[in-house]
Amino acid sequence: MTDKGMQIPFASVEAMHQEIQNEIRVKFEEVYRKNWFIQGEELRKFEEEFASYCESAFCVGCGNGLDALMLILKAYGIGAGDEVILPSNTFIATALAVIYTGAVPVFAEPDLFDYTIDTDKIEEKITARTKAVIAVHLYGQPADMDALLAVTKKYGLKLIEDAAQAHGAYYKGRKTGGLADAAGFSFYPGKNLGALGDGGAVVTNDKILADKVRALGNYGSDYKYHHIYQGNNSRLDELQAAFLRIKLSRLDVWNKRRREIAKLYTDRIQNPLITLPVERQACESVYHIFAIRCRQRDSLEKYLNERGIGTNKHYPVPMHLQNAFRHLGFHRGDFPAAEEISDTELSLPLFYGMTDQQTEYVAECINSFGA
Ligand SMILES: *Cc1c(COP(=O)(O)O)cnc(C)c1O
Repeated sequence: MTDKGMQIPFASVEAMHQEIQNEIRVKFEEVYRKNWFIQGEELRKFEEEFASYCESAFCVGCGNGLDALMLILKAYGIGAGDEVILPSNTFIATALAVIYTGAVPVFAEPDLFDYTIDTDKIEEKITARTKAVIAVHLYGQPADMDALLAVTKKYGLKLIEDAAQAHGAYYKGRKTGGLADAAGFSFYPGKNLGALGDGGAVVTNDKILADKVRALGNYGSDYKYHHIYQGNNSRLDELQAAFLRIKLSRLDVWNKRRREIAKLYTDRIQNPLITLPVERQACESVYHIFAIRCRQRDSLEKYLNERGIGTNKHYPVPMHLQNAFRHLGFHRGDFPAAEEISDTELSLPLFYGMTDQQTEYVAECINSFGA
């Protein structure tokens, strides 16, 4: 069974970057010759194109995904004394965005079926201080937005999408980014739409919010050297915006291949020890991560690594057990669903450029595990 020749990385941007290398070089020369690197034509065009891609009215580029979420919260006036509900299984940026406004992150359990926030567990977390809920479209799968809109509307809360893992995903025929009040995106190189460095964006249909986010990310300035807010420096530069425009034009093709690989995995993996990911009814995941679960996760990981297969865990420590948040006073057992996912989740290789043969090999290795 062991195929010494087959080496499959967990992820790779190589095939994408090979396809666009000439366009990237031409674009670099163009921007370089213009000598205009911040807040120019490339950013304006990217913002227009990405808003339209997300079927939304406005897009504001910023420095990274963490800032995108933080700027949304700040623009809504959320800060000290407020609470924001978010899932206990996410990347730490979702919680830090809340903390950096001065507000308190309130963790809620994920659903063990689709790994997004459990919509039945939100109402019990709402207090008089609650101002917003952040829904994370984890692993590329949209959260259950209809149920979330129902509960946030009932209590007059803002609903924010953390769409850092879900560029191009669909929820009941509609794109992520336009499903709630506002959405934060990351263009970290490893995301489905990644820059050649850091980058992020806020997407919204709310003009007032878009204008305020734009000012907040540019030193709180609405007009040169006039500062209406104490803002941040968080901008998407011309080079990254230009590169992102090239990659955005390919995103649907790249996401389609990710979905093909996910389907091949789902068709081929047959092992009673393994739980496969499930797509929500009427939704399309973009499979940022192909997350399986297994009680013998650590020995499965070793088994796959020994057979040349790269793997990862998303995420090994849930939010409430992170050392950085020990002051919040949580313990093991406080969020059993998040802990269950952290203890059993394993991420399989999935990237544009991965062949059917490679995918089948990974599936075969998983099927032979424990047999
Ligand atoms: C990557 C990521 C972020 C943060 O994005 P950065 O650009 O790295 O700041 C936020 N939330 C989630 C769910 C992410 O995966």
